[in-house]
Amino acid sequence: MPRLSEVIAALETLWPAERAESWDAVGTVTGDPGQEVTRVLFAVDPVQEVVDEAVRLGADLLVTHHPLYLRGTTTVAAGTPKGRVVHTLIKNDVALHVAHTNADKADPGVSDALAGALDLRVTGPLVPDPDDPAGRRGLGRICELDHPLTVRELAERAAQRLPATAQGIRVAGDPDAVVRRVAVSGGSGDSLFDRVRAAGVDAFLTADLRHHPASEFAASVGERPLALIDAAHWATEWPWCELAAAELDQISDRHGWGLRVHVSTTVTDPWTAHAASPVTTSPMGAPN
Ligand SMILES: [Zn+2]
Repeated sequence: MPRLSEVIAALETLWPAERAESWDAVGTVTGDPGQEVTRVLFAVDPVQEVVDEAVRLGADLLVTHHPLYLRGTTTVAAGTPKGRVVHTLIKNDVALHVAHTNADKADPGVSDALAGALDLRVTGPLVPDPDDPAGRRGLGRICELDHPLTVRELAERAAQRLPATAQGIRVAGDPDAVVRRVAVSGGSGDSLFDRVRAAGVDAFLTADLRHHPASEFAASVGERPLALIDAAHWATEWPWCELAAAELDQISDRHGWGLRVHVSTTVTDPWTAHAASPVTTSPMGAPN
């Protein structure tokens, strides 16, 4: 049975902390390096529901993509939501470890898992990591479709293959345009618009797109149609949990650790309901 320090060392080989962005907060948040680990849970968000799931499961280690604290704090009192998370973790001997932008940039990383869930063939990173001579690590991925799809068909595939959320999938641009090459980026992707434009793809699938960046992006591409496909942030990153769990399973087998590795089934997308507008040809919803 491995110690926490041994399991963390293995996770660090997959997602070295020094590859995280300078503003990020990755690594071990709670846990005694000497404690034994038998059961591990992977999740996107270190929120109370997920920590409760870890306790119910009997997990000794929770690995999340998002940090618990991105900035400093002066309190972990249980009267605050994050303090309560810390209390629950420590009282139940559950270690918390975070792999965020270091997992985004990894090979394979968060966007490889997203591409895999959508059956897209990855040809390379959207923003290559200059420290990777092989050119495989970096943010986002550029992908090819073996069989071209319309934007609408690709959005429908995303709706079917990604975990269900209230938001579903939104499309900007011509739904009937044909997609042969697509850029994907798990999580908030609107900081990557310049790279997407330069990549010469037909569509960009990501999350958290806002009105002004999206409409400016659509306006700035001139003659070349480029569609945006916007999924829920949590749904675009969840496939990484399955990928990461499979990677740790392999490591456990190699070392004979016998770890039980699980993926969280708790939906932590903050949006809980969606009311579709009535179908009408009038933009203001008045009957025609
Ligand atoms: Zn994220």
